[in-house]
Order: sequence, then C-alpha cells, then structure tokens
Amino acid sequence: MNSDIVVIGGGITGIAIAHELAKRGEEVTVIEKRFIGSGSTFRCGTGIRQQFNDEANVQVMKRSVELWKKYSEEYGFSFKQTGYLFLLYNEEEVEQFRENISIQNRFGVPTKLITPEEAKEIVPLLDTSEIIAASWNPTDGKADPFHATTAFALHAQEMGARILEYTEVKDIIIADNEIKAVKTNNGVIKTGIVINATNAWSKLINAMIKLPIRIPIEPYRHQAIITQPIKKNAINPMVISFKYKDSYLTQTDHGGIIGGIGYEVGPTYNLTPSYGFLREVTTYLSKIIPSLRELLILRTWAGYYAKTPDSNPAIGKIEEINDYYIAAGFSGHGFMMGPAVGEMVADLITKGKASLPVEWYDPYRFERGELRQKALQMG
Ligand SMILES: Cc1cc2nc3c(=O)[nH]c(=O)nc-3n(C[C@H](O)[C@H](O)[C@H](O)COP(=O)(O)OP(=O)(O)OC[C@H]3O[C@@H](n4cnc5c(N)ncnc54)[C@H](O)[C@@H]3O)c2cc1C
Repeated sequence: MNSDIVVIGGGITGIAIAHELAKRGEEVTVIEKRFIGSGSTFRCGTGIRQQFNDEANVQVMKRSVELWKKYSEEYGFSFKQTGYLFLLYNEEEVEQFRENISIQNRFGVPTKLITPEEAKEIVPLLDTSEIIAASWNPTDGKADPFHATTAFALHAQEMGARILEYTEVKDIIIADNEIKAVKTNNGVIKTGIVINATNAWSKLINAMIKLPIRIPIEPYRHQAIITQPIKKNAINPMVISFKYKDSYLTQTDHGGIIGGIGYEVGPTYNLTPSYGFLREVTTYLSKIIPSLRELLILRTWAGYYAKTPDSNPAIGKIEEINDYYIAAGFSGHGFMMGPAVGEMVADLITKGKASLPVEWYDPYRFERGELRQKALQMG
C-alpha cells in the first residue's frame, strides 16, 4: 500500500489533521492501533476554552472555537457555547485573572470579571459564599468527544482520507534521512511524510526514527467521574476552581455531571482508577456545588494527560528527518485544540508555514532550554 501522507494516531488530533489534509486534496492515511478515539480523546472532560494566559494559546483557541462552531453546524454534532466560569477566592487570583482577561480581550475573546451574584445567576446551584469574583467567557463551551471525533472521521473519509483501525505502527523505515515506509502489524505502507499524533505514546514513535532531539512528553494518569443524569441545563458552563484542587465540572447533553480534579499520578501507563481519587473528587466538587452530595456516581475512569514541562504541546517539523512532523504533548487540553491543530499542521505540510502562531509550540524549545510560560492546565 502507498500513501503520500501517513498520520499515526486516530484521536482528535490525528483525525483533525487528516480531515484538513483531505479537504485540501492531499492523499492521507490515518493508522490507529485500536479504534478511533480510544486513547485520551473519548476519556476527556468535553471542555473547550479560550481562557488561556498567553497570546499564542488565546489566538489558537479563538480559531479553534470558530472551527468547532463551523463544523458542528455543518456536520451536526453537539458543540454548545455555554461558557467557562473560573471561580476566584482572593485578590491575588483576581489580579492574575485580570491580566489573563486583558490578553484575551486584546484578541477579541469577550471574557470579563463578574461578581459572585452574577455567577450565581449563571449557575444557581453554586455556593458563592467563599468567592469574591469570577472570570466569565460566554463563548467558551463543550462538545461531545464521541460525536465530534467520529463526525470529523466520517467527513475526512468522504473527502478521500483512509482510516485504518486495529493497525499498529511497529517501525518507521528511513534511508538517508528520508522516510520510506511505516511497518505495521498489517503490512508495510510506503510513504514519504509521517505525522506523529500519538500524544501519550509519542515518545515510542519518536524512538522508531531515533529522533535526534529531546521532546519530553510523559503520560500521567488523570481520572474523571460521571453522576446520574439530572434536570437538563442545571449546570451549563464548565465551572473551574483552582482553590479546590483544580476542580472542573459541567453537565453533559445526557444530563449527568462530569468532572475531575488535579489528582495526578505518573509518569505511568497504568489506567486503573483509584479510591483515593473518588474520595477527593467528591469532597472538592461538592464544595463548589453542595447539592451534588445527593447524587449517585455512576462511573469513574482514567485517561492520559501527555505532559510537557511547560504544559504546551510540541507541534512542528523535525528538520533532521524528511518529512517527519509531531503534534503531541497536549497536557490535558488537546481535545479543544484539535481543529486548530489540524489547520496548523496542514498549513505546515502544504504551505511550509502556518497563519496561526505555531512557533509557540516549537518542538526544539526543550532542547534549547526555552520553555514557555506554563499554559493554564487544570484537572
Ligand atoms: C480525564 C481527562 C479529562 C480531560 N479533559 C479535557 C477537556 O475538558 N478538554 C480538553 O481539551 N482536553 C481534555 N483532556 C485531554 C484530551 O483528552 C487530550 O489532550 C486529547 O484527547 C489528545 O488527543 P490526541 O488525538 O492527541 O491523543 P489520543 O486521543 O490519545 O490519540 C492518540 C492515538 O494514538 C494511537 N496510537 C498510539 N500508538 C500507536 C501506534 N504505534 N500505532 C498506531 N496508533 C497508535 C492510540 O491508540 C490513540 O488512539 C482530558 C484528558 C483526560 C484524561
């Protein structure tokens, strides 16, 4: 089999890249070792926000939200702009968020500081007795990762992309620094261009090409819970509390409350959920919304945050090997970035440069010791 471009990994990142390349008329094949979304993508917390603390991430997420809106309308999957509400408990937090808000406003993201009373109007179940303000952007939102990823996959296929499931890349064949083929458990695929979109597994793929530079991406276990469904529209936005161990929670389309905290274990590939998490997540989430105490927890699960030292991904071209690209290390916010990453990587491949500030995610920054300001990570 031949393919001009091979994307390794069928999560939101690999699928969004293939979707954009197929749209531009490129011949592209996605290789996924299990099924689409089976990595972190189907385990994520659904959240999509533009509330970041640096210019690059704000611009990239503004574009990503435009694309979430466009494609959810065109393809008919659920994306709702129900906002993100960051609860703030002291002057120091307020000051820090004022700075973030001014960066966001400069790029047209309409975040504002609101009072506890205004926050309670948005989420009436909220306990506002401890908060002094909140950071509120009504254009942030959430999408269903199952529907979204499969919709992008189906439309990518309609535009000519090939998606091979239950096919695992075992090796990459290189001669004179040129990629010749990828070896899989189902045979060899000849190609000249490979994109590593395997996030938590990316270092294993990098090892196959003997990557000459250091890109530190490690898997960390993060867990989440879902409660029984309750009345629709009870908790519309994503609610965040850094004070209570980086808690996040919102309501899914189905009605259950989905949420998690910063209970991080790793580096590890172990995904067994733990009792310790369950005890802490219930304590902290019910401090934010006390009536959650009455709800049944239906299920808990775990997935990976593929973390870098500055919580920003590595996205770009590796110069020493023609033509090897990486888009991995999303550090807990890769679902929301998916559509914009698709556009940036397709730009790099088809035009050699991107209109979004992809240099912020330069894969060489670790080697050069130029870490970015830590991106807002949560959960
Ligand atoms: C509990 C939890 C909550 C989260 N909440 C949010 C949130 O609210 N918002 C947000 O934006 N993000 C969130 N995230 C992060 C988000 O899930 C990830 O950043 C995102 O899904 C990464 O997508 P990906 O396509 O890069 O990686 P993945 O979805 O992990 O896809 C990588 C794929 O590569 C495949 N693969 C690996 N090795 C090979 C191989 N050798 N051959 C072929 N295929 C291979 C894997 O099977 C996998 O499917 C959360 C994550 C967790 C765990």
